[in-house]
Amino acid sequence: MSKLFICAVAELTIVKKEAEWKKTSPLKVVGLFRGRVRRLQEEILRLKERENAFILAHNYQVPEIQEVADAVGDSLELARIAQKKRGPDVIVFSAVDFMAETAAILNPDREVYVPDPTARCPMALMCPREVVSEAKRVHNGVPVVLYINTLAEAKAEADVVCTSANAPTIVEKVGAERVLFGPDKNLGLYVEKITGVRVIPVPEDGYCYVHTMFEPRHIARLRRRHPDAVVMVHPECTLEVQRGADFVGSTSQMYRYAKDSKHEKFIVGTEVGLVDRMRREIEGKTFIPALSRAVCKNMKKNTLEKIRRVLLEKPPENLVMVPEDVANKAKRSIERMLELSEKGK
Ligand code: SF4
Repeated sequence: MSKLFICAVAELTIVKKEAEWKKTSPLKVVGLFRGRVRRLQEEILRLKERENAFILAHNYQVPEIQEVADAVGDSLELARIAQKKRGPDVIVFSAVDFMAETAAILNPDREVYVPDPTARCPMALMCPREVVSEAKRVHNGVPVVLYINTLAEAKAEADVVCTSANAPTIVEKVGAERVLFGPDKNLGLYVEKITGVRVIPVPEDGYCYVHTMFEPRHIARLRRRHPDAVVMVHPECTLEVQRGADFVGSTSQMYRYAKDSKHEKFIVGTEVGLVDRMRREIEGKTFIPALSRAVCKNMKKNTLEKIRRVLLEKPPENLVMVPEDVANKAKRSIERMLELSEKGK
């Protein structure tokens, strides 16, 4: 319940005001809040049906958004679902900019909307097209592998895209001794360690501000408190943090690992939204956030109210537009990833 409060402060403020006005008890405030969320969710489900829409939500979305989504997952899962899904005219992509762009590129015949156009990924913004083209000029002929957490304009400059789930596989399948890799330097170091392929970071020091919040001391402290727990961290964490973990993987890999594992307790080193999802969906196991303040405020800009507004009004400023020439080039690098990640499975 506390997560609902944390993740919807604006919503709670409205409800608190309603409660003050009605002079209700704190318990009634909780009831009002739950009731308000439920009413919004029901309205969204009705609108979704009416508008023939499909809602995709990233693992880092707040629980109440995950609950109304048709699919919840990481970048690759959602990219595949968006490409394969037949039927809906409208996709509402509740995540950050680059993910919605990917869905728009793979679904040119559909309208893709975002709940909040200002929900952008700061790491993707560290790697504009010019940075990639300059690196290509300096390292002429070296293949470019870009993390899916990049804007379409950067993807258009890449030979292939990857996700945190398949980055080592994709780099290995590219078959070169060196690759230009960006924008996350830590993921690049992880890939280099696994594959032995030399990674040239593009830009020099791209990072995710959420995953670089984790420090080895956070993991060590929790290990002392929960000696029976398995520690899982995301490869966007620093190599020092990765070294202190029992398992390093993407959000989908962590989810599957925890679900299939015989272990019952897990310390989770990624954005707290994944902890919410695992607590809700994996019964009988305990999930402890490695750092409860590891919240991506960009992802959390999306709310149920904004999703409702998009379904009701389809505001032009929320429609994802990628110029055709950029989309065609970016699509080639995304499809190359999908081909390579299927190949030899
Ligand atoms: S968690 Fe990091 S990589 Fe993901 S959207 Fe937020 S800032 Fe970007």
